[in-house]
Amino acid sequence: MEPADVLAGDRGLLWHPYAPLDGPPLYAVTGAAGVWLDLVAEDGQQFHVRDAMSSWWAVLHGYRNPLLDKALHDQVDRFSHVMFGGLTHEPAVRVAEKLVALTPAGLDHVFLADSGSVAVEVALKVAVQYQQALGRPERTGFLALRGGYHGDTLGAMSVCDPVDGMHADFPDYVPAQSFLLRPPRAWRAGEGLASDPVEVASWIAEAERVVAEVADRVAGIIVEPVLQGAGGMVVYAPEALGALRQLATAYGLVLIADEIATGFGRTGRFFGSDWGAVVPDVMCVGKALTGGMMTLGAVVVSSPVAEVIAASLHRALLHGPTFMGNPLACAVASASLDLVVAGWAQDVPRIEAALVTALSPARELSVVREVRVLGAVGVIELAEPVDIPRVTRAALERGVWVRPFRRLVYTMPPYVSSDADIAAIGAGMVSAVADVYGGSAS
Ligand SMILES: *Cc1c(COP(=O)(O)O)cnc(C)c1O
Repeated sequence: MEPADVLAGDRGLLWHPYAPLDGPPLYAVTGAAGVWLDLVAEDGQQFHVRDAMSSWWAVLHGYRNPLLDKALHDQVDRFSHVMFGGLTHEPAVRVAEKLVALTPAGLDHVFLADSGSVAVEVALKVAVQYQQALGRPERTGFLALRGGYHGDTLGAMSVCDPVDGMHADFPDYVPAQSFLLRPPRAWRAGEGLASDPVEVASWIAEAERVVAEVADRVAGIIVEPVLQGAGGMVVYAPEALGALRQLATAYGLVLIADEIATGFGRTGRFFGSDWGAVVPDVMCVGKALTGGMMTLGAVVVSSPVAEVIAASLHRALLHGPTFMGNPLACAVASASLDLVVAGWAQDVPRIEAALVTALSPARELSVVREVRVLGAVGVIELAEPVDIPRVTRAALERGVWVRPFRRLVYTMPPYVSSDADIAAIGAGMVSAVADVYGGSAS
């Protein structure tokens, strides 16, 4: 198929994420290698551009990474898929052993899920089963943070922000949950993570009040540690995590850390939870777990929680997808985790420093409200919603693939990006904003 036929064939046939069938412009991908994407626009223009998105924060090691490709080929030559009911295999054991070694001490048991959203569903079920097993069947709800995003399946939707999420579009379908205000913002130019102790103390006092009020009907608390991703790339005070950890323990609630976006070094610590020195009871990972090669999520569970479930009526965690523990995905995840461990501690601070330099000219633009960088996450926040098709196209003309949302033009570049790549990504983003909104970026 020629790219033009792909683009024409797609129209009206395929839905894309949160887009109408005849939606905004699409670009056909004709190749990808390293940090580069080859794209063709509907008007026939071709682009060879750097991927600032890591394909939704997943492709850490670049496209066609030889080590990941080899791990996948090797596993294809053994077997590609077998059911996980009653069977096991080396790739699953290996990836689970690595996850247990990499997650904080005490998280010792792994459930392999097919995606991030499914990992969140499983984590929620773990919490509900845990409470049931302890004789608290009325504890079926959840407490989540305003501004959060946890995925698109039903349980996950219910703990997304109730206003910005899809609750209003699915009244009576999405279960009603309890929410805490977003913790105080904690990002200051030049200081990185820093928060106002008075704001933090008043947020904690409010959290104590709300948890006391809802504890007898919620099974757990779910948070994206330190960085709320799809909810607006907002960095919040890590002290909030410590407070929620204490409250969860005090009231017998399961603390779920959704590290699907924040895991594997993205925020500058290996897990976002590390910013608060917090060990959750349940951790969800996904997105970058396979280095963006395959869909895979995982839920890592503490021994005390797993033991309660083991002693319950069914003794099992009541979930079991057809493609659970897919050997190809597990083999690639194993190889990706090795690459992450070998490189993240050098790559992420290096990328962070390069992003600070590359994005700072955006501050000169009058449309820009804030520029923030945390780990390998760089955000240009505008004072108004982004004209997404125009900024996307302008960035392509400047050599960069971005996918803005709301008021944000942001990057989560691959960890294999060189300093020159980051400089080019940053310059491309700043120029694209300047091209569309005016003002020159010196
Ligand atoms: C992307 C994301 C999810 C959902 O993962 P999918 O693989 O898209 O289902 C859940 N939680 C967070 C924090 C995410 O960023």
